[in-house]
Amino acid sequence: STRVSARVAGITPSATLAVDAKAKALRAEGRPVIGFGAGQPDFPTPEHIVEAAAAAVRDRANHGYTAAAGLPELRAAIADKTLRDSGYRVDPAQVLVTNGGKQAVYSAFATLLDPGDEVLLPAPFWTTYPESITLAGGIPVQVTADESTGYLVTVEQLAAARTPRTKALLFNSPANPTGAVYPREAVEAIGRWAHEQGIWVVTDEIYEHLVYDGATAASLPVVVPELADRTLVLNGVAKTYSMTGWRVGWMIGPSDVIAAASGYQSHLCGNVANVSQRAALAAVAGPLDAVARMRAAFDARRRRIVSLLGEIPGVECPTPEGAFYAYPSVRALLGRPLRGQRPASTVELAELILREAEVAVVPGEAFGTPGYFRFSYALAEEELVDGIARVARLLAEAG
Ligand code: PLP
Repeated sequence: STRVSARVAGITPSATLAVDAKAKALRAEGRPVIGFGAGQPDFPTPEHIVEAAAAAVRDRANHGYTAAAGLPELRAAIADKTLRDSGYRVDPAQVLVTNGGKQAVYSAFATLLDPGDEVLLPAPFWTTYPESITLAGGIPVQVTADESTGYLVTVEQLAAARTPRTKALLFNSPANPTGAVYPREAVEAIGRWAHEQGIWVVTDEIYEHLVYDGATAASLPVVVPELADRTLVLNGVAKTYSMTGWRVGWMIGPSDVIAAASGYQSHLCGNVANVSQRAALAAVAGPLDAVARMRAAFDARRRRIVSLLGEIPGVECPTPEGAFYAYPSVRALLGRPLRGQRPASTVELAELILREAEVAVVPGEAFGTPGYFRFSYALAEEELVDGIARVARLLAEAG
């Protein structure tokens, strides 16, 4: 037995944050590390949002608690924004403001799952999903798709994994870590199947605005309206407005479920920081021009990184259509001699690359699929080019 509970002892700490921490520690020692680990835009929060927050700090009306579910103005603005951006019409009472999208994920499963309930989890998955399902007493059931299908799972695969214990399906498009975007017909097929099966859907739309090459992010309860009564939509300001540190996300769902989740939140954390909610209000009620500029910059880097990775022998990189990640297979490079070692897993190869090339990447083990690397391209283009060149030079030595 351990000194901490079995529940907490069973958690695998976030690998993406760990890679980022290692890179930061090396940098603090003066090493010129290039980091492809971070899952955050490298742009400042837009000025009008910062100004709204600064004004909010000075107003003592914002120095107390807010309602557990969030500021009424913010819940209303989120409902308006949801209609504007995805065409989903919801009432403010269907919105719960959370401490980041991360807490929305955790609260969604805490609210839906009883012990032993299974959740269908398409992989590669964002590393927080299985942990929050497990913490809530549920069982993640991994359904894996590889690069041959562009990392998209099919209804057939989901059906094969479904059991009488299946309570919910986790859906994430555009996806972290692959950048995959489900086409509208695929969203519709999966939504219809979930509705027929009577299972819940938790759909994470946090990368909705980061799509390229004409791809669009179709929202499940818009494409399959019958599903709305059993759907939780998760979202947040982090990626759209470059506001990762402000910690504001939300969950949208049927009002009875949102009321239950608000009661849970009233004990869990009380409310999201008042000033951060004011900043989020300025963000969601404001224009989308800053995200249009970010998207253009990400798009240029995306093309660059895909073409550079494609030139490295042994690296197989499908073109991502969303988010800010590339997810190549590097399986062909495993088990080959390199600088006196023979890395057998992507964890080992990532460690070797960090040590020998001073480049940080996240190994696929963190996302349920060993044999891959996640490269975040949320970094300056010169750095990106230099970093991939370093990786290419090192990997060229593999025997
Ligand atoms: N959902 C996905 C798919 C993510 O990649 C992230 C962040 O990495 C989040 C949700 C949550 O972001 P935050 O908690 O910063 O709002």
